[in-house]
Amino acid sequence: MSEAAVAEPTQPPEPPQVITVTNPATLEKVAEVPVTDEAGVQAAVERARAAQAVWREMDFARRAAALRRYRDAIIDNKDRIAEVVVSETGKPIAEVYGGELMYVCDAIGYWAKNAERFLADQYVRPHLLRNKAAYSTYRPLGVVGIIGPWNFPFTLTIGEGLPALMAGNAVIIKPSEVTPRSTVIGCEIADEAGLPRGLLQAIPGFGATGGWLVDRADMICFTGSVATGKKVAQRAAARLIPVTLELGGKDPMIVLKDADLERAVNGCVWGGLFNAGQVCMSVERVYVEEPVYDAFVQKVSERVRQLRQGHSKEEIDVGSMTFPPQLAKVEQHVQEALAAGATLLAGGRRNPALPGLFYEPTVLTNVNHQMEVMREETFGPVIPIMKVHDVDEAIRLANDSPYGLTASIWTRDLEKGRVLARRIEAGAVCVNDALINFMVTDVPMGGVKDSGLGRRHGPDGIRKFCAQQTVVVDRWGARREINWYPARRGAARLYRRLLNLLFRSGWRKKLSA
Ligand code: NDP
Repeated sequence: MSEAAVAEPTQPPEPPQVITVTNPATLEKVAEVPVTDEAGVQAAVERARAAQAVWREMDFARRAAALRRYRDAIIDNKDRIAEVVVSETGKPIAEVYGGELMYVCDAIGYWAKNAERFLADQYVRPHLLRNKAAYSTYRPLGVVGIIGPWNFPFTLTIGEGLPALMAGNAVIIKPSEVTPRSTVIGCEIADEAGLPRGLLQAIPGFGATGGWLVDRADMICFTGSVATGKKVAQRAAARLIPVTLELGGKDPMIVLKDADLERAVNGCVWGGLFNAGQVCMSVERVYVEEPVYDAFVQKVSERVRQLRQGHSKEEIDVGSMTFPPQLAKVEQHVQEALAAGATLLAGGRRNPALPGLFYEPTVLTNVNHQMEVMREETFGPVIPIMKVHDVDEAIRLANDSPYGLTASIWTRDLEKGRVLARRIEAGAVCVNDALINFMVTDVPMGGVKDSGLGRRHGPDGIRKFCAQQTVVVDRWGARREINWYPARRGAARLYRRLLNLLFRSGWRKKLSA
């Protein structure tokens, strides 16, 4: 008998019990984090439900005060948090203070100040049934599950949970396996600051842990890739729980011939390379009107070549990438474009002087929409630039994408910028700016098309964590209503007249003539 014939059927490999976290800039191991198994997820949900039962009874002022104490603790621990985030992501430390920490601290103030107003009971005067009073209330859903990505591992986990907490929910976060400690430390500090135990928890793990959370939470708030987002939505649909999806983007930048070129160039370099291009709203493709194309390309290339890349805590512009498969994707997009005729004006390779996941900031021209680099999310430090004849061509190409997260238009004519913004299929458009709409928490942020479902920020960014309950109260107290039993003689004739009276165009005029 052959060896193959007696072989046991192969078992799927056991998932690891710990996550090994590696610093992507140095490739050194920085920590091991235990994986949360299914029983651990169940226990976390039970703790969360107990904490939420107490938390939801607190009024907004007490919840706000608790979150402000949490903010003080974050400020006291800002260096500790920054160290952890840098060690997991490889991003420049200034970007943690000025980006992740700035966002979370500002968002705490925003939700603490506005939650009560956004979730106030809404009274209406019914237009048909004047004998009823009606209002609607917002009730917390219970336990909100947050599943987050690795690119902003503090903002997109702890920051996502803030409005859910202010609405009276408990929050359980499944961080990315690549960056679990950035979330764990945020939850530890919440405990230290006196938030009720179990109210804000992290459950590190792989995809399976996220799936177990979807099976138990009352709502899921997912940020990540389109493919995983669809899986999460399908699993949530089986339980009919609400889900919001903040997914990827391929965000276009349109530079018109009347743009302030210096600002557009600087905005392009920063918007394309911030966080090594690993931003869902990154400038991923650039369309420039013919008259300014050459000057724009020359300036962008020069400035990109001058950027400082590294991992020290000194001033650096661009850090390492975070996730090895993402670096491989960047290499593939650039190689495929070059093989198809693109021109390389900067970068185009791993940084040979650095040991970690560093890809040199890259500029490509002579690109087209047959290339992956113009169609698929690159999520890396690459700026592909294309020449367009006019605005209409730019808009057509900008909309030629399955994604629709954000976009930017650069022009000195602000009115033209506003008009063109309406023609772009995206959840948000910046005029003479890029990415910044994320920090304007007063307005909704989210995608159309494959970029997602639902919105964060603004009033809907907290109402989504609630079930709306309507209360209708009878005001007149009649013994019975006209339509109650027993049916009245002549009821049909009465309703026919009423229908004419109320709804037939011109009938009322005829009656009064
Ligand atoms: P992934 O979709 O790979 O992962 C997101 C999260 O889902 C991770 O925590 C992951 O865990 C978890 N997960 C994986 N499989 C499952 C599953 N079957 N069930 C439940 N959870 C699961 O995204 P990335 O982490 O790679 O993040 C990058 C993506 O995020 C990019 O596409 C980017 O555009 C997008 N993004 C969108 C933003 C937005 O606001 N629209 C903001 C930032 C990023 P694990 O890591 O263990 O696999």
